[in-house]
Amino acid sequence: MKSIETTLGPLPADQLGTRINAHDHLFLDSGPGGVNVPDFLLDDVDKTTAEIRRWAAAGGGAIVDTMPTTGRNVDKCLEVSRQTGVPIIMSTGFHKGAYYWPDHWRYLYDEDEMVELTLTEITEGIERTNYRGPVIKRSTVKAGVMKIAGEYNRVTDNMKKLIRVIGRVHQKTETPVYAHTEHGTAAEELLDLLEDAGIPLNRVLICHLDRNPDLFVHKHIAKRGAFLEYDTPSRIKYQPESIVIRLMRSMIEAGYGDRIMLGGDMARRSYLKAYGGGPGFEYLLTVFTPRLVREGFSEEDLQLIWEDNPVRWLTG
Ligand SMILES: [Zn+2]
Repeated sequence: MKSIETTLGPLPADQLGTRINAHDHLFLDSGPGGVNVPDFLLDDVDKTTAEIRRWAAAGGGAIVDTMPTTGRNVDKCLEVSRQTGVPIIMSTGFHKGAYYWPDHWRYLYDEDEMVELTLTEITEGIERTNYRGPVIKRSTVKAGVMKIAGEYNRVTDNMKKLIRVIGRVHQKTETPVYAHTEHGTAAEELLDLLEDAGIPLNRVLICHLDRNPDLFVHKHIAKRGAFLEYDTPSRIKYQPESIVIRLMRSMIEAGYGDRIMLGGDMARRSYLKAYGGGPGFEYLLTVFTPRLVREGFSEEDLQLIWEDNPVRWLTG
């Protein structure tokens, strides 16, 4: 089986652990994200290390860090991995517009140039300053996944171009892709665009879909072969956990237990104990998964959601 690029080098799937976090955030310390919303600023290596230590102590394995060419900090992620032993799968690609300054290079270059900038993060190493330039400084860590993003109920023309770029990079590298959705919207349009770009949907993970816990929509996305990522647990401001649990059970009963994954998406200081908030990075493992067990989810279900499905997405 193919190995997966992580901060600890390329690893075979059986080295990723039995609890793979399909969508989370270790750092966000550049770009407008943390400027416009100070709660988004995640910048402290010691504090984030403390969070990841608790994740590991609770049985946590590899984590997909879902900041691509903005906000990302590969050097800090590498340091956390070295201190905790937890492999982190780094992203290239592009988030939604709000995380970029309006004059960002994503709006400047043609498709061939964008392919080159993205491809080299996978083949040579992640650019340590997120291509803020002018000097290119590559990490030894390579990107293992590529991000694209929808906006609320639409996909911008710039993102349509970037999806074509990601498609061309996928043809060369087979790197898996995940899509941010805004409240779960525009998922079908994103799948159409990814398919048109030549990316097989069994290498695509659609994120934050439980913000729109509409079973009909979820079953259709799963039927098309894509994976679905859920991350509202602990974030009661979105919905009670009973809703995502019912959704997960319904997906399993419909035969789509092999399509769903969990992520923490702990992208705020106020979610993290070390930054003075809660419930902490380990919540999915220490509170939510035990609840799934109490609610009747089987060992088999958990193995699919936490291990087999992420591995199949990552490796094809
Ligand atoms: Zn996220």
